[in-house]
Amino acid sequence: MARLYDSRKRVMVTGGAGFIGSHLIDRLIQEGHEVLCVDNLFTGTKRNIDHLHGNPRFEFLRHDVTFPLYVEVDEIYNLACPASPIHYQYDPVQTTKTSVHGAINMLGLAKRLSCPIFQASTSEVYGDPHQHPQTESYWGNVNPIGPRSCYDEGKRCAETLFFDYQRQHGLEIRVARIFNTYGPRMHHADGRVVSNFIVQALRGEPITLYGDGSQTRAFCYVDDLVEGMIAMMQAGQEASGPINLGNPVEFSIAELAEQVVALVGSRSEIVYKPLPQDDPTQRCPDISRAQSLLNWQPVTTLETGLHSTVGYFQTLLQELESA
Ligand code: NAD
Ligand code: UDP
Repeated sequence: MARLYDSRKRVMVTGGAGFIGSHLIDRLIQEGHEVLCVDNLFTGTKRNIDHLHGNPRFEFLRHDVTFPLYVEVDEIYNLACPASPIHYQYDPVQTTKTSVHGAINMLGLAKRLSCPIFQASTSEVYGDPHQHPQTESYWGNVNPIGPRSCYDEGKRCAETLFFDYQRQHGLEIRVARIFNTYGPRMHHADGRVVSNFIVQALRGEPITLYGDGSQTRAFCYVDDLVEGMIAMMQAGQEASGPINLGNPVEFSIAELAEQVVALVGSRSEIVYKPLPQDDPTQRCPDISRAQSLLNWQPVTTLETGLHSTVGYFQTLLQELESA
């Protein structure tokens, strides 16, 4: 059953025009909150929030979180940051600035307002992990100078800032380590594996499998993730985290390719491409902490989640082709 907030609030979501942020906003609005969506539209699109325009409880502010922001809200979810390797490697310096300066600015705002603040951290803080599945106590295996480092180290530094603001200023924080999440409103050209495979299968283009496809990921459907984020915000200080939020069912990337091709009924063939540098060989969350503290676990199977994601991309590709 969906969790409900106790009372109505003014909630700010940075990165709210992005994939996950826009679903979070839908959920917050459904519960009767007022939402301020803050986004610079680097990877997010107005299309993701179009349906909210005209809603008196929704407001959009085009703003870059690397600059200070003065607003009045009761709660902050900090999601602003490009999430796909193609996007975060496009301007790596800006990616680090978004994670680090963005965190400092949003934490400063939360401190002035004495309000709780949620950070969308990532499984990338574990790097190419030596522990499997990953528990929150694992410190990770991250290359500090590689092409993924702007994102991984930026997010690690943001976590440090969140816990220092908690220790130093008594701020109420929530830090979630989000694992691979997919669903409608993913960017069709962001290079992430689920969107790539679905778009390729729908267009009848070759499916690009990097490496031999034996590397693993665990895919969480976006509705399940949003449920976990809300549960964390609603829980008390014991849910400061970090808490892994993800689906613990692990698949090889080759298995994912087969599932997508079968689901779409596509004739796409699989082509093998080189594995990108520092591509983690396996990743799967241990979600015991989320289960015990939040009574949360994902409920959507990969097949069900892929089904609705394929439906979204079918419509999107038709729109893009007729535009
Ligand atoms: P996304 O790229 O769709 O959304 C990110 C949003 O942040 C976009 O709307 C973008 O325009 C905005 N943004 C980027 N830089 C900004 C800046 N400087 N100022 C203001 N807005 C800015 O990505 P997503 O998948 O929705 O990810 C949302 C958050 O969740 C990110 O912080 C990401 O690191 C984290 N996360 C996502 C995943 C995943 O699998 N999708 C996994 C782990 C963590
Ligand atoms: N991947 C792939 N083909 C693609 C895109 C990605 O085989 O067209 C692989 C990629 O090398 C990685 C996995 O799929 O091993 C997940 O990649 P993604 O970029 O979605 O997420 P991340 O590596 O950040 O978990």
